[in-house]
Amino acid sequence: MDMSQASFFTVDQAPEGAERVQVLAPYPLSRAYDYFLPEGMAAGPGDYVRIPLGRRETPGVVWAAGEAEGEKIDPKKIKPVLQRYDFPPMPQAQREFLEWVARYTMADLGSVLKMSLSVPDALSPPKEATAYTVPPEIHGAAAPFKLTAARQRVIDFLKDGVPRRAADIAREAGCGAGLVRSMATAGQLKAIAVSAPAPCRVVDLSHGVVSFSGEQQVAANALRGFAEKQEYAGVLLDGVTGAGKTEVYFEAVAETLRQGKQALVLLPEISLSAPFLERFEKRFGSAPALWHSEVPAAQRRVTWTGVAAGDTKVVIGARSALFLPFADLGLIVVDEEHDASYKQEEGVMYNARDMAVVRANLGNFPVVLVSATPSLETMVNVEQGKYSYLRLPSRHAGAQLPEMNVVNLKQFPPGRNRFISPPLEKALRETFHAAEQSLLFLNRRGYAPLTLCRTCGHRFQCPSCSAWLVEHRRHNRLQCHHCGYAQKVPTACPECNDADSLAACGPGVERIQEEVHALLPDARTFILASDVAGSPTAIRTAVRDIEEGKYDVIIGTQIIAKGHHFPSLTCVGVVDADLGLAGGDLRAGERTFQLLHQVAGRAGRAQKPGRVFLQTYMPEQSVIRALAASDRDAFLAAESAERERAGMPPFGRLAALILSGPDDVKLDVFCRSLAQSAPRYDDITVLGPAPAPMAFLRGKHRRRFLVKAGRNLPLQKYLAEWLGMVKVPSALQLKIDIDPQSFF
Ligand code: ADP
Ligand code: ZN
Repeated sequence: MDMSQASFFTVDQAPEGAERVQVLAPYPLSRAYDYFLPEGMAAGPGDYVRIPLGRRETPGVVWAAGEAEGEKIDPKKIKPVLQRYDFPPMPQAQREFLEWVARYTMADLGSVLKMSLSVPDALSPPKEATAYTVPPEIHGAAAPFKLTAARQRVIDFLKDGVPRRAADIAREAGCGAGLVRSMATAGQLKAIAVSAPAPCRVVDLSHGVVSFSGEQQVAANALRGFAEKQEYAGVLLDGVTGAGKTEVYFEAVAETLRQGKQALVLLPEISLSAPFLERFEKRFGSAPALWHSEVPAAQRRVTWTGVAAGDTKVVIGARSALFLPFADLGLIVVDEEHDASYKQEEGVMYNARDMAVVRANLGNFPVVLVSATPSLETMVNVEQGKYSYLRLPSRHAGAQLPEMNVVNLKQFPPGRNRFISPPLEKALRETFHAAEQSLLFLNRRGYAPLTLCRTCGHRFQCPSCSAWLVEHRRHNRLQCHHCGYAQKVPTACPECNDADSLAACGPGVERIQEEVHALLPDARTFILASDVAGSPTAIRTAVRDIEEGKYDVIIGTQIIAKGHHFPSLTCVGVVDADLGLAGGDLRAGERTFQLLHQVAGRAGRAQKPGRVFLQTYMPEQSVIRALAASDRDAFLAAESAERERAGMPPFGRLAALILSGPDDVKLDVFCRSLAQSAPRYDDITVLGPAPAPMAFLRGKHRRRFLVKAGRNLPLQKYLAEWLGMVKVPSALQLKIDIDPQSFF
């Protein structure tokens, strides 16, 4: 028999006694499936393999050796593993972690794996790029042929012997990339194949060692101790903005690398800022590997492989970096641990801060949570002795915390259709005349959050969401901030046809800018909001311009709050300190405190003292009082007592079920039957169904259930029992949100 035919048959059908493995594929599947290993192929748990799945082929991970228990599958139906990739296996701690996340979030294991196999083609050999060098025969002074000036520049540029890509050569030598290639064809250059190296392989641990203050030194030593031990420990590093927390936790990173392990620093996406990266380079002499949504595909690929092979030492990333298959992870730092953006609200709904603690536990290494305004969850864990506690109480180099002023808007009302009160106006003028910068904070993009007709009262609403349309005057558009719907601002009311009857209600950042222009016509102003500044690069440029003093008044949304250090910013005005307190969100007070504290921290970070003005209609509100008195701990204590009384997190557990569908009648019928089938237990309460605050979103109606349980009750088990009894109609979508952070 023809040998090629024989091997063809063996891959189509499991031969007698062929070895079995269970392989998990990155698809919404709840478990691994059986495959057989063709003769001559060895693969064990953690190995990356390629398998047939339905009509396609996909990479997957061997989850276990042998066949799945309790199942007799027709051997004829079992398919072969097609290939084992030549790659270090996914470590056991990582696989246990994925299982843990799937169980906890009640997501499919395969969907969780997909977050780890986030670069699908990373396992195949890299595409090689071409680089060019100068061949030896024309290296000497006497080239065998005469060169044009451009060609000579190329040769000169490459004389240092470093191979470079055509585009880089062209840019440096001021010619086209085509010229470089034609020089290679003519034998004047030599083409060689290169693949991009993994980022952040070499880190100089003693590059930019800082000399610490006494309290910084204590914290740094403690962190070094944890990193050296390489055992699980949860640590909170708590300290005001500017206290040097970053410099201090860099020492934990350094010690981890000294132990030969890899380190991961998680930041809220928006904070992957240039100043942060510059400081990393200053400390370690090279750039870290970056992981976030803007990283280009080619870069993601080399980073993923570098991390999985253990070559890449330090990753700075947004929440998704937690799922990278680190070969030998030895530390996670979660900076701004209180930040809501650590919760993923789509797909697998996980909280990266909490899952980082789980990952550290399973991998047996320390995790450091960092914040100036720690979450209540974390503070309670400190109080209960679950986390160690390190505090940096003062700002570096004696910079003072800003002076806090509460402006009661009932007492000092702004003028008609104005939003800046007389005391804040005075401060803006003084700051401008002292040639210092001011920041006006308002967490609302656009010109006005609501447009209505003065004649008939018509309000402009999104056709697909229960939301008002926000006017964006500079683009002359009305926009929905939930689904992206937009229309031109009409000149007449669509309801009563009255012309010039439309009125803007309330302020957005554009309207505040207009008001500043009226107050201070010579001031140079800038709006820092995600839609105005645009791309991360544009934001970086804007931040640099502000640092260099190109603007006098900055009007910003929450992207201004984080990580930036503006030396001549001395006055901060919070236009509407009450904005975040409306609505029934469990954490409204806590979040407002965190956000406004962070905004206030932008003032007076360098030598000049800063002032903060909080405009409010509720000066007696506990959040405002805590901010005014800079008394975070009293606020947290009060908040904590209130949550404990109500049995709310972190003293009780919550899960939300969100059901949505295009037909509200069918949705309500199903929700009612779902409510009736909820099993009854002591200490578990099911609230709902209720229309979600966003009862209509992107054309779908939405209903919510809230399940409230005692702290130590098996919430997931309860939900599994309940949902196991019902079948969700295919027209409806069900999302399970464990530990919900948002309640929209
Ligand atoms: P935090 O992370 O607590 O807000 P940072 O680590 O960003 O504080 O420190 C604030 C500023 O002070 C940074 O510019 C940092 O480089 C500087 N800094 C902090 N500690 C030191 C130190 N010991 N020596 C020199 N510069 C320091
Ligand atoms: Zn909409």
